[in-house]
Amino acid sequence: MINIVIFGPPGAGKGTQSEKLLAQYNLVHISTGDLFRAHIKNATALGVEAKSYMDKGELVPDSVTIGMLKAKVQENPEANGFIFDGFPRTTPQAEALDQLLTSLNTSISACLSLQVPDEELVKRLLERGKTSGRPDDANEEVIKNRLAVYMRETNPLKEYYATQNKLAEIHGVGTIEEIFGRLCEAIDKHA
Ligand code: AMP
Repeated sequence: MINIVIFGPPGAGKGTQSEKLLAQYNLVHISTGDLFRAHIKNATALGVEAKSYMDKGELVPDSVTIGMLKAKVQENPEANGFIFDGFPRTTPQAEALDQLLTSLNTSISACLSLQVPDEELVKRLLERGKTSGRPDDANEEVIKNRLAVYMRETNPLKEYYATQNKLAEIHGVGTIEEIFGRLCEAIDKHA
């Protein structure tokens, strides 16, 4: 199995690149952000809870997020591998993911970290907000909070994967194809 964590701040291009990677490597794409947005659309209890955090740019609590992620992995027993997009975002999430994969006799192959300067991220997110319909993309204050939460809670996970020799830092500015090429090169090295 190839199991990839696509990592980086909001607006780094994780979703765009995941779509290309899943086709190239025949992987199941799991985006926790997309799963939460589907719950919100369907007005489930989980969606109502998640929305109260998402609209402020805060993280949804680990217990909720980890449970949802586990269920999604378990729905795909025949998968050739997974791309985890927007998960893990905290150390307990990374530990839970490792435990889950170990129980399935597999592990993370690589964590690909997209590097993009903050000014570029804010620009991309505000641009995306014009068409995405996402309330958390439309408000600059919320965007800034998402970036601050990323720096505080999520960025330290690079160290978690670096100590396992699984971290690849990828320059995330350029054309979609250029960045995709860099990601594929890193996967082919690690997987
Ligand atoms: P994203 O689509 O990845 O940008 O996620 C949008 C929002 O969903 C985030 O700002 C969080 O509020 C929530 N979210 C997504 N993934 C997670 C996660 N792994 N842990 C906690 N909250 C998450």
